[in-house]
Amino acid sequence: MKTLLPITIAGSLPKPSWLAQPETLWSPWKLQNEELVQGKQDALRLSMLNQQQTGVDIISDGEQSRQHFVTTFIEHLDGVDFEKRKTVKIRDRYDASVPMVVGPVSRQKPVFVEDAKFLRSQTKQPIKWALPGPMTMVDTLYDDHYKSREKLAWEFAKILNQEAKELEAAGVDIIQFDEPAFNVFFDEVNDWGIAALERAVEGLKCQTAVHICYGYGIKANTDWKKSLGEEWRQYEEIFPKLQTSSIDIISLECQNSRVPMELIELLRGKKVMVGAIDVATNTIETPEEVADTLRKALQFVDAQNLYPCTNCGMVPLSQEVTRAKLNALSAGAEIIRKELSA
Ligand SMILES: [Zn+2]
Repeated sequence: MKTLLPITIAGSLPKPSWLAQPETLWSPWKLQNEELVQGKQDALRLSMLNQQQTGVDIISDGEQSRQHFVTTFIEHLDGVDFEKRKTVKIRDRYDASVPMVVGPVSRQKPVFVEDAKFLRSQTKQPIKWALPGPMTMVDTLYDDHYKSREKLAWEFAKILNQEAKELEAAGVDIIQFDEPAFNVFFDEVNDWGIAALERAVEGLKCQTAVHICYGYGIKANTDWKKSLGEEWRQYEEIFPKLQTSSIDIISLECQNSRVPMELIELLRGKKVMVGAIDVATNTIETPEEVADTLRKALQFVDAQNLYPCTNCGMVPLSQEVTRAKLNALSAGAEIIRKELSA
């Protein structure tokens, strides 16, 4: 791996047409049973190849193993009834029909461990695996059992910790938790959200990351962003506590967002995945634009702690656009590597 500015991606990559409808969020699988296992493995190989050819250093599964970044994990747990549904407001933003927690939640067997073992067997490069964060899981369900977001988050954290330990044993180098809910419920994040996340990483020796973003480029999110004003200062509420947490890496949205770059200073000492690629547009960033974003970030994060990255997941984009954007990310990072070594 390049020692300086290792490149990684925040989340999903496009899915091939044999597996699910391309350029569609949360598209159902087109295959079943053994064919699905095979189809996912082929997709995983292809997404790995795309990352390698575009210069990504830390390889992830590109979410080829899951339909949805939260519910695919929850589907494998006991205590949640997917037949009983209720419409709730997710992240205080949009209505969604969600499954119901009807009893104690538990994990009977590993969820992604076999997929992670497969990815591990395919490359010597460092690999990163994403799991949903406890708070975002709670926010994607209707709870008819615990009747407490904090209690349910704590139960999920214990389950995530079991899964994370097995992913670590399978050879995963970085385990990432996706917590878009951290950008919304600041009081809860500080009261119990970060504590629950720390419970989820308890005892891990591999690196740990949390991804906090402003979401995919769907209308509910772009409308919400328009309501946030000239400066997006949400991160300011939670970074001080994250800075003192046991999480190693924080993944942020920086490209085309109105997040004041100096907020990263609040994380000084942490590793930072700087989103330098906007996933809500087909416009391809130029290497110079990427370099400019990274250069600005370098005022607030030490070079050895900076990981050039995408803002969020890329599954709604085409393969062609994704590859062009990842090439720009690599080329932009290379400009900065040269500047730093000069
Ligand atoms: Zn995201």
